[in-house]
Amino acid sequence: MISGEIVEVITIKELVALGNKVKGKIVFFNIVMNPTYIGTFNAYGESGIGRRSGAAEAARYGAIGVMVRSLASNADDYPHTGVMSYNDSFPKIPAVAISTNNANAISAKIKNGKVVKVFFKNNCTMLAPVQSYNVIGEIRGSEKPQEIITVGGHLDSWDLAEGAQDDGAGCVQSIEIIRAFKKAGIQPKRTIRAVMFMNEENGSGGADAYLENAKLKKEQHIFALESDAGGFTPRGFTLDMKEEARNKVNDWIQLFKNYSVYDFSIGGSGSDIDDLKTIGAGLAGLRPDSQRYFDLHHASTDVFESVSKRELDLGALNMAAFVWLVSEHGL
Ligand SMILES: [Zn+2]
Repeated sequence: MISGEIVEVITIKELVALGNKVKGKIVFFNIVMNPTYIGTFNAYGESGIGRRSGAAEAARYGAIGVMVRSLASNADDYPHTGVMSYNDSFPKIPAVAISTNNANAISAKIKNGKVVKVFFKNNCTMLAPVQSYNVIGEIRGSEKPQEIITVGGHLDSWDLAEGAQDDGAGCVQSIEIIRAFKKAGIQPKRTIRAVMFMNEENGSGGADAYLENAKLKKEQHIFALESDAGGFTPRGFTLDMKEEARNKVNDWIQLFKNYSVYDFSIGGSGSDIDDLKTIGAGLAGLRPDSQRYFDLHHASTDVFESVSKRELDLGALNMAAFVWLVSEHGL
């Protein structure tokens, strides 16, 4: 357990300016997700600096602990947690996330000139890794079975969350593509593989193992698609592929417009498939509407009941269409 006075900062720069004044205190990173970004992932990336690096930076100046405002786009009473890292040259001080409502309340007290003291206790610890597995199912291609299309999500979730949106949704959608093709008697020309990656949240061990295995077997991966942004209404796909492949995809965009799927921008795909580009795969990520994702992300509210079956199905349908086009026409 630690206890101490809180020092509020909203940037790392502010912390640096305070320097040794935070010694013996608890640094409170009250970084609000920027509401002026329409894409909430942009706000998440930018505001996440406090959670990701706050403890490492505060320890540098002798702080005894760190509290971060949850990376949540709503006002709620739940902590939204997530990955953070330490700097080995400084002590590993405890860090906790607090809810946006609590962050606002504490900040208001400090702004009123009050000295705010807190105590907190956490029992987090890094355990040794244990054996776990990716789960894979595939339909072999009828004409070019050696050309592999991967479609996936990740099987693990952040500790305190059920992980229905992150990323049960992506797993279910990937399985659904295989199921629907079988049910409809669709025989793809190229091999379609649904992969539920293990350990995305804590080091991407499953993604590394999948890539290693592909290299070992000299597999030919032409395309990979990940759904890891929630099971909300699909709006488009991000594309991370060579220009020639992108031009091919651009010819298909019209086909998606009837489903209100229109946003095919250049951008990152998903962390489980990202490294497949090193062996030549073109990549894409499902981009659902992002407005409600960070209401639930890495919080105990990310539960099965938060997923709309209809929205989930719409995502799977559009993913299936994309996968089918690549299986028919290559990339
Ligand atoms: Zn995820």
